[in-house]
Amino acid sequence: MIAVLKQGTTEEQITNLTHWFEEQGVSVHKTVGVYQTILGLVGDTSKIDINLLEALEMIEAVKRISDPFKMANRKFHPEDSVISVGDVKIGGGNFAIMAGPCSVESEEQIIEIAKQVKAAGANLLRGGAFKPRTSPYDFQGMRAEGLELLLEAKQETGLPIVTEIMNANHIPLFENVDVIQVGARNMQNFELLKELGKIDKPILLKRGLANTIKEWLMSAEYIMAGGNENIILCERGIRTFETYTRNTLDLSAVPMLHELTHLPVVVDPSHATGVARMVEPMAYSAVAAGADGLMIEVHNNPAKALCDGAQSITPAQFAGITGKVFEIHALMHK
Ligand code: PEP
Ligand code: MN
Repeated sequence: MIAVLKQGTTEEQITNLTHWFEEQGVSVHKTVGVYQTILGLVGDTSKIDINLLEALEMIEAVKRISDPFKMANRKFHPEDSVISVGDVKIGGGNFAIMAGPCSVESEEQIIEIAKQVKAAGANLLRGGAFKPRTSPYDFQGMRAEGLELLLEAKQETGLPIVTEIMNANHIPLFENVDVIQVGARNMQNFELLKELGKIDKPILLKRGLANTIKEWLMSAEYIMAGGNENIILCERGIRTFETYTRNTLDLSAVPMLHELTHLPVVVDPSHATGVARMVEPMAYSAVAAGADGLMIEVHNNPAKALCDGAQSITPAQFAGITGKVFEIHALMHK
C-alpha cells in the first residue's frame, strides 16, 4: 500500500502518521520526490482502513499495490534509484560498464586486464573467484585467493570490483568487495538472498536461466525486505529453444523493468549470447533499449581462457566498443 501525501505536509505530521502505521504493525518507507512524498507501507496492511486514511487532511491518495513485489515497485518509489559504488553511479541516467574476465586466473592476468579495460573506459572490474560450473571437473575458480587478486587489481587501477558469491558463509570474505554478484544459478537461493539483505553492499542480481521478470523482482524483494535496497538487476539471457546462441537475450525486459521497478538494469551480452562476435551488436542494442550499464567479459587470451573463452572479447575489441556505447547512452538521454 502507498499513501501519497499532500504538498505542504509537515515533518511532524509525517512522523505522527508513521508512528500510527507502525502501531498497526507495518513498516514505513518514506520517499521524498521532487513533486510528492510517498509513504510506502510494507507488511500486512489488511487491517488498515483505507477510508479512514483517505479522510485525513494530509492524504492525497491511498493505493493498494497489487503486485507481489512492493519495495522494488516503481509505484512505491517513483524516481529511479541510483546505486553508488565508490565514485561510480548506476541508474537514473548514470551509466557504468563492468568488464573483465569470466574468472580470475592469475595475478598477471587480472592486473593486465584491469589496466586495459580501465584504459578503454570501464568503470568497474568484474572477475569470478567462486565459479558456478556445470561440471564438477571444470575449473572452479581461485576462490579466496581470487578475491585477493581482485583487490590487488583494484588497488592497482582504482576500479571497484564486482564478483560472484555462491554461499552465504562466504559473506565475511567479501568484506572489501564493492559489488556482490548473485549469479543466474542462485537467483532463487532464498537463504542467500536473505543474508544479503542484512548487509548494505550493492548486489548485482542476475536473472535466472528460466525465470520470469516477476520471479526476478521477487528475488530483489527478498534482499530489500531484509533492509538492503542497493540492488542492480542484470539481464543475462534466458533459456529458449534456440541453440545458435547460448541463451536468448531478452532485451524487452529492460523497458519492462523500467516500468515496473525503480532499480537500475544492466545487460550482460556475453553470457546472453555465448558468442564473442555477438557481444558488440547486442551491447549497442542493450543501451538503445535503455540499459543503465553493461557487463562484458574481456580476456587477454580468449583461446586460453579457463572459462567462457568463446564469449570473451579481447581488450582491443572492448576498446573498440566503449566509445560508441557511451555515445548511444548520451543519445538516448538527450
Ligand atoms: C558470470 O558472470 O561469470 C556468470 C557465471 O554469469 P551467470 O550467472 O549470468 O551465468
Ligand atoms: Mn562467465
